[in-house]
Amino acid sequence: MDRIYLDYAATTPTHPDVVKAMLPYFSGTFGNPSSIYACGQEAKEAIEEARSRAALLIGARDEEIVFTSGGTEADNTALKGVAYARKDRGNHIITSSIEHHAILETCHFLETQGFEVTFLSVDGHGMVDPDDVSRAITGKTIIVSIMHANNEAGTIQPIAEIAKITCEAGVYLHTDAVQTVGHVPFNVDKLGIDLLSMSAHKLYGPKGVGFLYVRKGTRLVPFMHGGEQESGRRASTHNVPGIVGLGKAAQIAQQEMVEEAERVTRLRNKLIKGMLENIDHVQLNGHPQVRLPNNVNLSISYAEGEAMCLNLDREGICCSTGSACSSGTTEPSHVLLALGLDPLQAHSSLRFSLGKWTTEEEIDRVLDVLPRIVTKLRAMSPLQKSHG
Ligand code: PLP
Repeated sequence: MDRIYLDYAATTPTHPDVVKAMLPYFSGTFGNPSSIYACGQEAKEAIEEARSRAALLIGARDEEIVFTSGGTEADNTALKGVAYARKDRGNHIITSSIEHHAILETCHFLETQGFEVTFLSVDGHGMVDPDDVSRAITGKTIIVSIMHANNEAGTIQPIAEIAKITCEAGVYLHTDAVQTVGHVPFNVDKLGIDLLSMSAHKLYGPKGVGFLYVRKGTRLVPFMHGGEQESGRRASTHNVPGIVGLGKAAQIAQQEMVEEAERVTRLRNKLIKGMLENIDHVQLNGHPQVRLPNNVNLSISYAEGEAMCLNLDREGICCSTGSACSSGTTEPSHVLLALGLDPLQAHSSLRFSLGKWTTEEEIDRVLDVLPRIVTKLRAMSPLQKSHG
């Protein structure tokens, strides 16, 4: 049975060309990029080439890219780095209630360190209201962190509008763009972002590497102290193969992103339409239009998410019951609750995320298999009997 992978938002397979680009840096050109001899300097050149490719993808300057171990470290660095660098100015941070745990838990930690955090609510589509950001800013606000697109519901936030507000108020704007870099074209200058987090493994690159974009002039205390790597902004010997892989993934995305987004949007719409037509009591979560090209998040009443997911897995179909990071727990997704779903609806949700190797035949197969699974599960569900 061929596997149908529809969980690209959790992680993507590494592109074969990325693997090929990385291989020489494991044992051939293995030198430490801080070393002055040739094989160290070759590694350094490869890092700088990757930096340029990463910068080009988001319209940044090379020196504004700081390589990290992934999205989580980039998020931590942005928030803690700015909080400590600007604590002379204020102690207030604004974020949203639907952020990834990398942001939410960092904010909770900062609360224990004397910082105050406002967690903005979202509307039923998972959208932050820029007016709420404006109203929440006080004289003590130092940073606003709103994700570019939500990893569960797929909703894309009005970052440009929020940026106008933060810019006028002299407050930094950070965006967690882990789900959008290389999937949706954008430019940090046009959007007016000061800091941005990215992770390579969501973009057909390797796991354990990402970057933080830091606009020139942004004050930031390093999160990792030690050597002078990354111009003193992130200590530790560079993950050379990982960074080279990130650069290659960025280059491929630059070339293919627009066409790929169109193709995936078409398949996504087919999947949504088919689900809504073929199964009763289904609702699409997230914004109907302003959403990631590859995201489908559905609540299917009277069927339990984990049970649907495991039954799909038996048919060779991989999807998720919410964010991969929260799978394995029985807590309903904090994102879906924030959108106004009740815990039962949240527990009956599935997320399909499409990608580069998703085909129309795969979508047809899901549309054939899932309604049958739902019928079977509902027949066993006491909830269906009482409601249906
Ligand atoms: N932010 C978002 C929106 C994510 O989806 C993820 C991963 O799922 C992360 C941050 C964490 O990134 P990483 O796995 O590279 O630490």
